[in-house]
Amino acid sequence: MITFEEAYQTALNAVRPMGTEMIPLTEACGRILAQEIVADMAMPPFNRAMVDGFACRRCDLDQTLMITETIAAGYFSQKTVGAGECVQIMTGAPVPDGADCVFMVEHSEQIDDTHVKFINQTTNDNIAALGEDVQPEDLMINPGHMIRPQDIAVLASMGYPDVPVSQRPRVGVIATGDELVEPSVTPTTAQIRNSNAYALCAQVDAAGCISHYEGVARDNEASLREIIGAALERNDVVLLSGGVSMGKFDLVPGILKEYGIDILYDRVAVQPGKPTTFGLSDQAFCWGLPGNPVATFTIFELVVKAFLYRMMGHDYTSPTIRMPLAEDISRRNSGRTAWIPVSTTPNGELARVAYHGSAHINAMSYAEGLIPFPEGHTELSKGTLVNVRLIR
Ligand code: AMP
Ligand code: MG
Repeated sequence: MITFEEAYQTALNAVRPMGTEMIPLTEACGRILAQEIVADMAMPPFNRAMVDGFACRRCDLDQTLMITETIAAGYFSQKTVGAGECVQIMTGAPVPDGADCVFMVEHSEQIDDTHVKFINQTTNDNIAALGEDVQPEDLMINPGHMIRPQDIAVLASMGYPDVPVSQRPRVGVIATGDELVEPSVTPTTAQIRNSNAYALCAQVDAAGCISHYEGVARDNEASLREIIGAALERNDVVLLSGGVSMGKFDLVPGILKEYGIDILYDRVAVQPGKPTTFGLSDQAFCWGLPGNPVATFTIFELVVKAFLYRMMGHDYTSPTIRMPLAEDISRRNSGRTAWIPVSTTPNGELARVAYHGSAHINAMSYAEGLIPFPEGHTELSKGTLVNVRLIR
């Protein structure tokens, strides 16, 4: 058995990066940028009026000014603002030469059709200087960055109608077990509904990859061989749930080996998730996740997610916040790092949600995050500050 940290690093070190592709800007949100984004122009590209008002010389603010022109956004004036003059100007328009401030229309009094007076005590310049935000050739966004809506604005403003991004791994999801029926079926005695495959597909998609549900493999070699073989053919990564424990019908590792998968580990000191299995061939990666739904969900969150993001060149780490415990938490066995589902209390502390163990999947619906119970520890006392991994 290896430590959780070793398991994490071993998987991340094995990553092979995906290729890149160009996609339309309108589809780029959530994708991982594959190249540097460099500014092709200055921002602002001209001295820009920041308010609707009148552009003039600051030294003339005490005078009645003659309005020589009106400049709307999108128009450029060749004229120079001279002594005793101003131009009426709109937000976003280029401030003409000669003017060094723009006073707000709210701070003006119109004397007649062509004359105006500044009536406030003081005014800001209200001019955004050419290039104050961005200079041409500035590095705007680094490769590996996950594109968010605000980055879409940057890409649009720098002239990227198409965006270079990492290709998304195709991830096949297989459930295993003779006891499984699909969600549309009412289970008979001894059956349960397959929830893992659907949760895993959702986790894969939420991590920006392409999930393919490959079906349920039954607990016999022929069925596993067929479904695993097909999944390995058409995916970059195959996720299996169940069939990796010590039971008589836990046949998954044997079949993976038949397909040339080199298993790098099959036991990890983490709770839940001890039988987590990771292997690879030249073509594909395989994760054998424990069948218990909380374990499957948690191991995906803790390890597989970061692994998939690394394939796309993104250094994913979970969003984490530091909060105090609302209660003492203890356990008997301290041999493994345990992950405990928690939610926040109204006074900003962390409390456990009702949790009966790794089959109790609805505990995860109530949970807002997971906190680690470090290996070697049996007590966490009320008030201790802990890092919560948020689960979204
Ligand atoms: P296993 O790892 O195959 O021994 O499965 C461990 C436990 O998880 C058993 O109680 C299984 O019935 C349950 N389980 C396995 N696969 C799934 C699945 N796809 N959905 C829900 N529960 C499952
Ligand atoms: Mg099973």
